[in-house]
Amino acid sequence: MDANEGLNHDGQYSTAITAEDFRINIAEVNRRIESAAHRAGRDPHEIELLPVSKTVPQERIREAVAAGCHKLGENKVQEAHRKSGEMADLTIDWSVIGHLQSNKARDVATFASEFQALDRLKVAAALDRRLHAAGRRLDVYVQVNTSAEESKFGMPPEELLGFLRELPQFPALNVQGVMTLAVFSSDIDRVRTCFQRLRTLRDQIRETDPDLIGAGKLSMGMSGDYEVAIEEGANCVRVGQAIFGKRALPDSYYWPEKG
Ligand SMILES: *Cc1c(COP(=O)(O)O)cnc(C)c1O
Repeated sequence: MDANEGLNHDGQYSTAITAEDFRINIAEVNRRIESAAHRAGRDPHEIELLPVSKTVPQERIREAVAAGCHKLGENKVQEAHRKSGEMADLTIDWSVIGHLQSNKARDVATFASEFQALDRLKVAAALDRRLHAAGRRLDVYVQVNTSAEESKFGMPPEELLGFLRELPQFPALNVQGVMTLAVFSSDIDRVRTCFQRLRTLRDQIRETDPDLIGAGKLSMGMSGDYEVAIEEGANCVRVGQAIFGKRALPDSYYWPEKG
């Protein structure tokens, strides 16, 4: 695997503008998904590619939709909500993949089809209440912090089972599985360890409490590490820059340190 493939000579992802640009980038990501799946002896059809459109303006997202993207991931609720309104004429399922404050639950309940960063009961309760009021349901992934000392959102692995045991009281939430962000590191072994942790946790819960974890899917892997995630069992890879191009904002904007 050559980590530099798909990057231009600056080591940055090139920006997709036209539908044709998007078709090319998506085909390349799909090709890599397939070969990673085959390396791992897996069926590529059990892996969802979720394109992540955060910071990308409406004009370019419309081109991505023309190229076949009908489900998009967004990190920030306000940005996702605004875009869902701007592009209400298109068929797009919106997946919120970033941290949510309970006072934003109402927004999510109105437009999102999926929320991948559930890590607090207060948010689960707020979502459930708002979803009931709206007569909707929401697919959710529980976010787990698999990188321990690096402070990110998500619950400690040892709290996952207890958390899942509380979720049946929120019937509007449709548990799909678990999600994680690996440690930010060029050390592939450390990244892989995070993915392995999530998979092991999922496997354990499937064994003891299969009813609590829905389909038991693993959402893990982003532009820089999705092939490793697939080798470790990912069912959803969240890919932004390798499809849309490099982002101007630093990642610290999306993953503020806790505290
Ligand atoms: C932005 C983001 C991604 C995608 O990251 P890329 O480097 O653009 O592929 C994945 N997951 C989450 C939670 C994100 O916020």
